Amino acid sequence: MVEGTAAEPPILVSACLLGVACNHLGRASASDAVIELSRTRRVVPVCPETMGGLPTPRPAAEIQADGRVTTSDGVDVTDRYERGARATVELALAVGAREAVLKERSPSCGCHQVYNGSFSRTRMPGEGVTARALRQAGVEVRSEEDVSDI
Ligand code: SF4
Repeated sequence: MVEGTAAEPPILVSACLLGVACNHLGRASASDAVIELSRTRRVVPVCPETMGGLPTPRPAAEIQADGRVTTSDGVDVTDRYERGARATVELALAVGAREAVLKERSPSCGCHQVYNGSFSRTRMPGEGVTARALRQAGVEVRSEEDVSDI
């Protein structure tokens, strides 16, 4: 049973963490902790990359040193990522969400870490395009690895 009330602000959640097969491989990244959270709190699933108009599956993309987002073939997909970020912020404002739980290391959703642009699975401190936009809009952003803080 969902215990959250209609008056309680919902939490935006990366849809892949809830089991939606929307990641770039066409798979989910289900998190038991996030699914458990959805049983006690009202959540609103989002997938910024699909909201930005990208297909599923889609080529992997990483944030480059200049801030652009490109695929491993060098295709610049920054506009799609920014479009998805704007749509996610608009949704957060529309539903009154003040918190988000987003998939760590994604070029959209990463909160503390992202891959470094070399497509070698090398991590670096940083945040995804949507995580940054939400944070700048005043939404408190956490990753699935921080759910115990809620
Ligand atoms: S954009 Fe975010 S929600 Fe969508 S698949 Fe990637 S990590 Fe998951």
